[in-house]
Amino acid sequence: MQHSLLDFVDDNTINRPTTSKLCTGLIAQWQTIPLYGRIIIALVLGVIAGLLLGSEAAVLAVPGKLVLRLLGALAPALILAAIVHTFMTTQLGGPLAVRLPKLLLLNTFVAILVGLTVANVIQPGQGAGLTAPIASTETVHAANPLATFLENIPKSLLGPLADDGKVIGVIFIAVAFGMALRHERDRPLETVGHLVELFLESLIKILHWIIAVVPFAVFGIVASIVGREGFALFKALGIFVLSVVLALGIQAAYYLVRIRFGSWVRPGELLRDGRDALVMAFSTASSTATMPVTYAALKDRVGLREQSASMGALVGANFNNDGTALYEAMAALFIAQMIGVDLSVQQQVMIVLTSIIASVGAAGIPEAGLVTMTMVFTAVGLPVQYIPILLTVDWFLDRCRTAINVMGDMNVSCLLDGKQKEHRSP
Ligand code: ASP
Repeated sequence: MQHSLLDFVDDNTINRPTTSKLCTGLIAQWQTIPLYGRIIIALVLGVIAGLLLGSEAAVLAVPGKLVLRLLGALAPALILAAIVHTFMTTQLGGPLAVRLPKLLLLNTFVAILVGLTVANVIQPGQGAGLTAPIASTETVHAANPLATFLENIPKSLLGPLADDGKVIGVIFIAVAFGMALRHERDRPLETVGHLVELFLESLIKILHWIIAVVPFAVFGIVASIVGREGFALFKALGIFVLSVVLALGIQAAYYLVRIRFGSWVRPGELLRDGRDALVMAFSTASSTATMPVTYAALKDRVGLREQSASMGALVGANFNNDGTALYEAMAALFIAQMIGVDLSVQQQVMIVLTSIIASVGAAGIPEAGLVTMTMVFTAVGLPVQYIPILLTVDWFLDRCRTAINVMGDMNVSCLLDGKQKEHRSP
């Protein structure tokens, strides 16, 4: 049952509500607000807190660090489960399956190239003037006892099991999986496939819990940044958002041009007939949830052959996250520019390679790209503690890149369908 704040005001006149009742009501109210709304509220409150507290607001960066640590712990397991699951469940074979990997790889490569070019030309992070980490472990240690708690949060899922004395880390993992599996305890597991599915689903459930903390992380990060650095960073973030949208727009134009010259489909008609899928991708931020809608739109409305529609929208969708790859590469460059680190050509090549892998592991679910980004940063030696800055804008950019991920699937399906439309008897 949903409570409204009014319920509690009325209660107050009859029998005094306990504090816990009021808290439950507030939490219930909070949860009815969509995630983006909660993030915007957190952003505004964060700015106010930062202005009021000044450099004292640095301690508020702790929830951001917590979220980052949890995301980092989840990343390798999520990538592993997503890729194993994809290969186990995908129907590979037939002549189209030979063309598919080439198309996917080319599209992702172009996406990353577009992203890196735009980020190199516009340089959104230039002039942000970040000098020191937002909240280094040391400063948090000195300022906040929560840091001790934070230190016990596992950095990886298997780490605490292998390290001596990391009992608290083991307990964290046990509680998380115990809770995630509570409702699954009677689920029969007959095949290895079921086991992998259950593992992936549990990880996604845990990821949703972490995402619920994101607004608090945003509040703390924004407060600590405003308190310490003022508003320069937000100008840079604004330019970053515009740069990513521009790069995604270029990628979309590339898809449409390729469709125009490589298939019988007219780009305008594709946009019209496939708009349900694109709108759904933007509103759910999940290309996996959108998959059935993409498939139906391509097959029934655009009129592609069943096989091409399923190869692009169902098979390709598992591997193909061009929007995510582009975003990961741009984010790495953005942060490097903000802290004044010049990335060499080799490092940028490394970003290309890791972004490809990270995008495959993004599993088509909301915010998954943010999880796998820790891997890209680590590969080129960028400090991951800056990733929380991106939390403030990720809710919006996630939607944009998901729409491009889905458009990429449509592009592949159209190209696989070729220049000759299938003749269907009426
Ligand atoms: N949300 C994206 C998708 O579903 C993945 C990502 O976070 O980039 O395709």
